Amino acid sequence: MSWSQPPLPEDSYDHMSTLIGSAITLLRGESGVFAVSNEAFDPQSSAEYTLYHLSEEALPALLSYVQEAMQPNVQHPLVVETLPPALAARFGIAQEAAEQQGVECCSLALYDQNGSLGTLYFLRLATLRSCFEDHGAESAGTRTDETLLHFIAQLTAGLRFALRSQALVKEQGRLAAIFQHSTEGILTVDNALRIIDFNPAMERLTGWRENEVLGRFYFKVLRPQDRQGNDLRLEESPILQAFAGQEVVNREMVICARDGQRFTVAVTASCVRNARGETMNGILNVRDLTRERQQEEQRSTFISVISHELQTPIAIIKGYASTLARTDSRLDARALRLRLVAIEEEADRLNKLVGNLLYASRIQAHGLQMDIASLDLEHLIRKMIRRLHAKAPDVEVSLSFPPQLPTVMADQERIEEVIQNLLDNAVKYSPGKPHIDVACFATGEEVIVSVSDHGMGISVREQEQIFNRFHRVGEPLAQPTPGAGLGLYICRAIVEAHGGRIWVESTLRQGSTFLFSLPREEKAQLPMVVF
Ligand code: ADP
Repeated sequence: MSWSQPPLPEDSYDHMSTLIGSAITLLRGESGVFAVSNEAFDPQSSAEYTLYHLSEEALPALLSYVQEAMQPNVQHPLVVETLPPALAARFGIAQEAAEQQGVECCSLALYDQNGSLGTLYFLRLATLRSCFEDHGAESAGTRTDETLLHFIAQLTAGLRFALRSQALVKEQGRLAAIFQHSTEGILTVDNALRIIDFNPAMERLTGWRENEVLGRFYFKVLRPQDRQGNDLRLEESPILQAFAGQEVVNREMVICARDGQRFTVAVTASCVRNARGETMNGILNVRDLTRERQQEEQRSTFISVISHELQTPIAIIKGYASTLARTDSRLDARALRLRLVAIEEEADRLNKLVGNLLYASRIQAHGLQMDIASLDLEHLIRKMIRRLHAKAPDVEVSLSFPPQLPTVMADQERIEEVIQNLLDNAVKYSPGKPHIDVACFATGEEVIVSVSDHGMGISVREQEQIFNRFHRVGEPLAQPTPGAGLGLYICRAIVEAHGGRIWVESTLRQGSTFLFSLPREEKAQLPMVVF
């Protein structure tokens, strides 16, 4: 045999290719393709199933040839045509073989009692005949024809089965991908409520690994509670209720993670039944509500804090202004001045609040763009402390700088805002006479600024939160000191935009030290924009 025989492609080993390969071999063909009839001979889609001893480039050529020429049918299930040598060459068949022995293009209709399935096309040497056609002219007819019909029916049934299992495998793959990549936690249980699947989102949510929970009673793993913190009774189990035919959609409950932490989720339960209507599996979809809750909480805190922060200065301004406006008021010059100063301070407070709100929303929307230049922090801090003394002479400040503080690359105006915020807070949160220490020191990479006070301090748990927007320690509305919880959020955005860090070290009732770092001038990577 002088035909070129390319190696079998890998997928020939699947069921479909094996069937088609064997059929073509039985028909004494060398290469061929099976086209599914309902795919209208589109070479792209038909080619999907078989490539048996036929190069990929040859496939569209063969299909377009057979599309024009050979359409087998139930009356003539096997159609054979001689292929011109030039065309055979296009199919990748060695020229000499095509010329010496001739090549035939054959098509076999595949159908059974369920109807037509498609057509099998194949190429073979003209000198060869399959056992189904190998009958003498004189005995032409029934026996061989019947064998061929039998063969067609068997092959069609086999291919139908292979197509169905291929579709099933695909479907299974699709479902597995959904299960694996779903952002929602999914667990399934058997009818005794033992876990049989636990997807990665569920692992992330609960901290349990799938292999640790398989076979375990799902109620014991999740330990669900209602929103009031009462343990759910078994009959309240969402899956049991779904088994009983009740609808369980987005029911809120609290579940327990592996580390004992509890969090609110919304669960939807459903069940799979067999043909007799008996329950087989339960499915639980679990959606974490923590973020949604936090956002809701943040939104309502925002509204109450902002309204409170706006109302207070407005009320003060209005109160003083009405006193001043009264025609019968007889205020001396000092009292008058005191009220005017108070009005000015409250207007400044309003102005600062509105400024901070705009600043925070700009950071969120566009990030921060900065005007970066070399900056001498010692010079800046000394200037700011002089200003603070002029405004609040009873605040004690001690300064500490190393002899040669390296310069940093920074936007002076913004770094001034950061330091001002930290100084304001140190004064604001120090009951009595504030004493503040401001220090700078350098490491090989960065310059660090610290602002310490001896005030009320911050608990460890709160230290993680205070850099978040609108976060204030304790009950936001019950605060004796004004503020909207935006200052440190803005400080963090500015410092991080410079490639630095900001953090706090604090002991409750003893005081706090806020520190931030900026890269030394020679280490700074520019330009910087933070979102
Ligand atoms: P604001 O001071 O306007 O509320 P900040 O973002 O500046 O907002 O601070 C957030 C919270 O961190 C404050 O409400 C306060 O509870 C706490 N905090 C900030 N600085 C200090 C400090 N030096 N000492 C104690 N608590 C502080």
